[in-house]
Amino acid sequence: MYDPADILEAARSIRPYLNELLGVTNAEAIDHQLAELLAQANTGRSVDNSILELLATQDATREWIAAFLQDKQQPEHLRSFSPLPGPPSIVSAAKFVCPQGDYIWYRPRVGIEPPPCPTHDIPLDPVS
Ligand SMILES: [Zn+2]
Repeated sequence: MYDPADILEAARSIRPYLNELLGVTNAEAIDHQLAELLAQANTGRSVDNSILELLATQDATREWIAAFLQDKQQPEHLRSFSPLPGPPSIVSAAKFVCPQGDYIWYRPRVGIEPPPCPTHDIPLDPVS
């Protein structure tokens, strides 16, 4: 069994990759449902099984989530960030999250600005 917290983390983390995994048309529908489930999670509802069911409907997302839950992080082939030497700073932060807790974005390399949360249209916060 997977930890529900890991499943939520996976659901937030997969959202930036949905276009790539599913194509824009499918991605939009799945992303909308994921955002809805994550909003329900914020109200204390247990949604981890619904998230797994939703992502299992497509081969690409099922495989991504399985790899994520095994590694507890982004699947290896999607991880391209290499941190700069020296202490971490906001400038070099690799991970960004929506303050409302429904979106996680990894900076592929230094210098790329994080996008706003697609659900809330607010800036993402860096996480150290
Ligand atoms: Zn958000």
